[in-house]
Formats: sequence, structure tokens, C-alpha cells
Amino acid sequence: MKPAWPLDPKSSECNCAKCDGEKPAGASAPSGMIYMDYNATTPLDRRVLDTMMPYLTDDFGNAASRSHAFGWKAQAAVDQARDEVAKLINAQGKDIVFTSGATESDNLAIKGVAEMYRSKGNHIITCPAEHKAVIDPCKRLATEGFDITWVAPDANGVVQPEAVAAAITDKTVLISIMAVNNETGVINPIAEIGRLAKQRGVIFHTDATQALGKIPLDVEAMGVDLMSLSAHKIYGPKGVGALYVRRSGPRVRLVCQMDGGGHERGLRSGTLNVPGIAGFGAACRIAGDEMTEATERIARLRDRLEEGVMAGLDKVQRNGHPTLRVCGTSNLSFAYVEGESLMMKLANVAVSSGSACTSASLEPSHVLKAMGVGDDLAHSSIRFSLGRFTTEAEVEYVIEQTIKSVRELRQLSPLYEMAQEGVDLSKVAWKGH
Ligand SMILES: *Cc1c(COP(=O)(O)O)cnc(C)c1O
Repeated sequence: MKPAWPLDPKSSECNCAKCDGEKPAGASAPSGMIYMDYNATTPLDRRVLDTMMPYLTDDFGNAASRSHAFGWKAQAAVDQARDEVAKLINAQGKDIVFTSGATESDNLAIKGVAEMYRSKGNHIITCPAEHKAVIDPCKRLATEGFDITWVAPDANGVVQPEAVAAAITDKTVLISIMAVNNETGVINPIAEIGRLAKQRGVIFHTDATQALGKIPLDVEAMGVDLMSLSAHKIYGPKGVGALYVRRSGPRVRLVCQMDGGGHERGLRSGTLNVPGIAGFGAACRIAGDEMTEATERIARLRDRLEEGVMAGLDKVQRNGHPTLRVCGTSNLSFAYVEGESLMMKLANVAVSSGSACTSASLEPSHVLKAMGVGDDLAHSSIRFSLGRFTTEAEVEYVIEQTIKSVRELRQLSPLYEMAQEGVDLSKVAWKGH
């Protein structure tokens, strides 16, 4: 079966900026699975694979081997990638520490700062809408004597700088606020938070995994001291990421979380994943080159998706700020419909529901909860995330299927029927409650 997201940039279905005009106009329902879960991961861009391939085959050297050409070649690939990653966030190659992904970068940043600055203070500020890779290290630190202030976002999912400022104390050693939320696509005011962190002499970490390649990032202009990045969210390989670590103004010091051969300035020991890192570099270069075009195109598709779905259905709520958001994400709640059921009906469309998809608990999304979305609507939410290879035909198909599926599910819902008849469900005295 042909994948719906061709890896070959010359394929007729490909929709990347490089080969736009080649896709068939107004194609009918695409065959196979449609991928609309780009915030979970992205397919490897063929051009990235081409960059990686030599390091998976002939040029297999260890970048730490200083005594022969195999090592030098690997080292050269890593050096180039370091510069390419750095360039996309206006940093320098030497500020980049390669890791296994954003989860590791978040852990290194948060635990590394906490341990290093323990004598200075034990207070950390973060947000309950963060990724688990930030929340869980903070929770662990809370069991080890740290005080964590969880600054809630507003109803649009935006973390307000004033709320962060109000939480800072003499004991605050770290502020960790994500640049873009993975569930809603909402963009936080990172530069403002960076400014106030600087004023108060507090280290500022941001998980920019969902921002990289989608919005311009500049660690200088944004006053960011630590920035977590991941390759597989920007059409690079899985299992590789980076942590930007500021080296001056202020110099940020970290306690390493992995002891060993002293790679990466001693901050992350372990033989470098040379093919992965080369791929990450290429992915950053391509994302930077194509950002303007790609974000415009993807935002148009996302807007069409929302407009199409809302034209065909009533009682659809968009979660997250209407404009302060990245191009490809649409988080919608379909009242009176269970997100999980809708996902099952949309069998050939890969999306995410607002429930914790990794657990059997069906807890509603912690992100929507933090924004104050009620349990019902949180349970009714679906995240559509579009990207480089999303086509118009796919969007049209998904609109059609979503409308059809929601209508069918609502037909089975007595609550929807009552609401249609004008019953105010909030005033119903439920038996047994
Ligand atoms: C995907 C994601 C992560 C985890 O990244 P990995 O590289 O898979 O460890 C962390 N934070 C955010 C915001 C993400 O979207």
C-alpha cells in the first residue's frame, strides 16, 4: 500500500514546498491512511534520509575517534549539524548539546539546573500544561525538597508573563515554560518571560520542540538560557534531539545526568548518534529554508479544515488561542461526542484524542484541564495536526469524514437530542445524582 505521506520528494503526491506544483489538483479521496498527527511525530523527509545514509553505511566512524579519518569524517558531520541546528535558533554550534530527544533535553535542563543551583534556592516555576517531559521531572524534584509553582495558563492556553512574574521568589532558580503547546499549538510569550527572568536573575528554560521550524526562534532576542529541541517533530529521525545551553550572559551550568566518556562538554556522555545528528542538522536546514512558504501553506489547510468542519456541524469548540498559535494544529471539541469514539470512527485518519492516549485511564487532557475546559468538552476533543506532506485532498476527505462521523455519533446521543430540543442540560436534575 502506498503511504499517504510519500517520502519521495519527486512523487506526484508530495506536497512539500520543493515540489508543490506537481501534486494532482482536486484529487479524490486519497488511498490508504491519512496522517494528521504531525505533533506526535513526522515522517522522515527523503532529503534528510539522503543526508543520513552515508553515516549509516560507509562513513560509520565514531566522532570521538581522533586518530583516523573515519573519526574525522564523523566529527565533520557532527560539526556541520551543530551549526545547522544552532542557526535555526540564532545560537552558535558550541552552545548545542546533542541528546536522545526532547525528553532527555528537558530532564537535563531541569534536573541539571536544580542540582547545580540547589544552594542558591529550591523553587521552580512551570505550567500544568507543559509536556510530561517537563511536568514529571518537576514532580520528581518536588519529592526531593523542591517547591514547584504551577502557573496556570489563561482560558486560551496562553501563559501570562505577569502570572510568572508574580510567582518569582528569592529562592527561584528556574522558570520552565514551553514555547508552543503540543496539544493546542498555542504560542507562549517567550520573549516577555525571558525578559523578566533576566531582570530577576532566574534561569529560563523553554521546551521549543513544537516551535522549531514553525516560528522564528532566537535565543538572544527571547532571553532563553536553555532550549529543548527534537529532530523527529521536524521531519528528522527519532531518538535525537538537542539542548541549547547558554555559555555567556549568564553562563548556565548544569549537573550532567549521564556520567561517562565526557562527550558534549561533559554534559552528555555517550557515543554520538552521528547519522541521527546529521539528519537533525539537515532537517533544521530544510525547515529554515522553507519555513515561510510552508507555514503559510499549512495554515491555509488548517483554516480550511476548521472552516469546513464548523460549516457542517454545530457545537464545535476550538481549544486554544485563535491567532497566537502555530500553523498546523487544530484542537476541536465536538460536544456530545466522545473523542475516543470519534477517533475510532475516523478509522483511516490518524489523529489524537484529548484523552491520555498512552493510558487506559481515559483521563481528559491535562492541557485542556489546565485551561479550564470542562471534563465533558475535554473528553470530546480531537487534535488534528497537519504538516509538510498534508494535501488539500486529504483535508477535504477529513472534513467530510469528520462531519459524517460526528453526525452519526450524535444521533446515538440522547443528550444531544435533548439539547436540540432546547433542554438546558445544566438544569436537569439527574436521578441518582
Ligand atoms: C514530542 C515532544 C517532546 C518529547 O520529545 P522526544 O524527542 O520524543 O523525547 C517534548 N516536548 C514536546 C512539547 C513535544 O511535543
